Amino acid sequence: ARAAASHEASSEPPVPVHVPLRAHPYDILVGRGVLAQAGALLAPLLPQRRGMIVTDETVAALHLPTLQAALAAAGIECGTVVVPPGEATKSLRGFGTVTDALLAAGVERRCSVIALGGGVVGDLAGFAAASVLRGLPFVQIPTTLLSQVDSSVGGKTGINTVHGKNLLGAFHQPIAVLVDTAVLDTLPPRELRAGYAEIIKAGLIGDAALFEWCLHNGAAIVGADTAAGMQTTAALQAEAIRRACRFKADVVADDERETASNGGRALLNLGHTFAHALEAELLFDGRLLHGEAVAIGLGLALRLSAELGHCSPALAGQVVQHLEQLGMHARISTLSVSLGTALSAARLAAHMQRDKKLRDGRIGFVLLRQVADAFTSHDVDAETVQRLLVDEGC
Ligand code: NAD
Ligand code: MG
Repeated sequence: ARAAASHEASSEPPVPVHVPLRAHPYDILVGRGVLAQAGALLAPLLPQRRGMIVTDETVAALHLPTLQAALAAAGIECGTVVVPPGEATKSLRGFGTVTDALLAAGVERRCSVIALGGGVVGDLAGFAAASVLRGLPFVQIPTTLLSQVDSSVGGKTGINTVHGKNLLGAFHQPIAVLVDTAVLDTLPPRELRAGYAEIIKAGLIGDAALFEWCLHNGAAIVGADTAAGMQTTAALQAEAIRRACRFKADVVADDERETASNGGRALLNLGHTFAHALEAELLFDGRLLHGEAVAIGLGLALRLSAELGHCSPALAGQVVQHLEQLGMHARISTLSVSLGTALSAARLAAHMQRDKKLRDGRIGFVLLRQVADAFTSHDVDAETVQRLLVDEGC
């Protein structure tokens, strides 16, 4: 009932954030009530009025009927594949489920795959869209804050294998991204905070005004500011999404396939070398969400930057304190306490040695000189990293 009510609430014309890719530019349409307008918004963009919705069980129960009704009203005929929620679905098996369903439905080259869900659904459905008949049109309708600001933008799709995360995949750009801020009303606060980590990350990498804005508005965005009304929170969330998407769209447009030798898309990995090691160590068992790992990763990347003399220790402290005030862990020591498990520096370092960002066997880090001045480095020696992890409570 909560979901239905929020969809009926005032819908407004969506504000487009343009993604200026040379070969296939597209818009991210952000607004409240966009899901209920999906038929009208997509009808002019789809090559054929046929599609297949891919979603997970949780999102299907909350938001699928709204999307189905909107598409039907515009004469867009759609089947649906519903997969179980969770990271485990982003697997070869999940990929088989989705591609089999698409093929069983007799899709043609012009039939669109429409992802309705978080990053798991977006990455899985996107990779299926990239693969079936060597490429179907693809639409993203992200429903978590993380997917609205990060995973639905930029065209990276993929699945996990026993060898690690996101190791099979393809670049496959969507023809449109529809972001309905109303779906965040049903998102658990923990997922909201996880998405916030990627927003403040964007500010740290390359948008000082966004970073400052986050320091002031972060609490309201994640629903931790009890003084902010629901309307304020919703408006701030919409603004945060637009600003983070604007930032990522520009980075992606300059370096669509992450081939820039300096900077470019690689900078989006601020905090992620540490985050991926933490996720690998905790076996993706749900104890740590990706965005939660990123928050700790940001804390570590800033401390490493300070340790190496690139940025001030005060900046590192400021970011850690801000994230902690919003109810997030930003340090390994407090994470260990809350998990009731000590983390091993040696094991985390070993995970980093298997990272996708290795170059000639050396670990890649994104470091910061100051806010909005990030750079990539493959010159950090393993001992410094190990020492930092031990200092941080490993
Ligand atoms: P997720 O897709 O697992 O969603 C989190 C949980 O929230 C799920 O249980 C889901 O069912 C539920 N949910 C989704 N929307 C909801 C809503 N509106 N209301 C209530 N519940 C809802 O996780 P995520 O954080 O969205 O995405 C994480 C994934 O994204 C990871 O696999 C990560 O690798 C990937 N990712 C990809 C990129 C990229 O560029 N492709 C970037 C960042 C992350
Ligand atoms: Mg990320």
